[in-house]
Amino acid sequence: MTRRKKLYEGKAKILYEGPEPGTLIQYFKDDTTAFDATKKAVLEGKGVINNRISEFIMTRLAGIGVQNHLIKRMNLREQLIREVEIIPLEVVCRNIAAGSISTRLGIPEGTALPRSIIEFFYKKDELHDPLVTEEHITAFNWAATQEIDDILAMTLRVNDFLTGMFSAVGITLVDFKIEFGRIYEGDFSRVILADEISPDSCRLWDSTTNEKLDKDRFRRDLGNVIESYTEVARRLGIMKEMPTVIQGGITGDAS
Ligand code: UDP
Repeated sequence: MTRRKKLYEGKAKILYEGPEPGTLIQYFKDDTTAFDATKKAVLEGKGVINNRISEFIMTRLAGIGVQNHLIKRMNLREQLIREVEIIPLEVVCRNIAAGSISTRLGIPEGTALPRSIIEFFYKKDELHDPLVTEEHITAFNWAATQEIDDILAMTLRVNDFLTGMFSAVGITLVDFKIEFGRIYEGDFSRVILADEISPDSCRLWDSTTNEKLDKDRFRRDLGNVIESYTEVARRLGIMKEMPTVIQGGITGDAS
């Protein structure tokens, strides 16, 4: 077995050098963190589930013309992806108030927003990812005006698509966070969707009971985190042969 060069290790994923120039391998860890990594745990099997859910969503988004970094899933925990120059923004799209918008603006959790709202957060752990405006983004050259327009348009398309996809399986898409990166084509650059889309980065509520099926189960100590992520995968029709989550790991459906 050859040892690959690790390029970056984040809280939930590792990036390794890819087999070809311009490619990387994205490895999904079981590590989970919240509240600026002050709360940590290892959730056995989470990486496997998020790899599959993110592959499923990115593949479908590519199918409706939302370009993204996924080339293909390689195995249980790894994806081959295109290398991008990450834009240092977390782009959050909200349909229902929850989390930081509820505390920041005093809107009770669960309140339907008058329309979908997109917010930008500057990716900087030391500063706790502060909310920023388009003025900050262009003034500090994090992204150009045209890139922001592309990001807004793509985020709304992702929201429309995911809202419908989840609603069809009895899940309400409350909010989600996505990230974007640049790829260079000759003298031009293009913004594409990067990172992951999974229950780690979305708020997903059961449409009937409003039960949380996402990372809030970990943040708020609600228990059954893996069971809820697995339920999301099951409803989406992924992992038909459901892996048995047992102490010590995940078995079954090794593809
Ligand atoms: N989110 C994320 N990574 C972050 C912060 C937020 O994936 O570092 C997601 C979060 O899971 C939720 C959405 O972005 O789906 C909005 O999060 P919010 O701003 O409400 O912050 P939180 O309550 O998570 O601190």
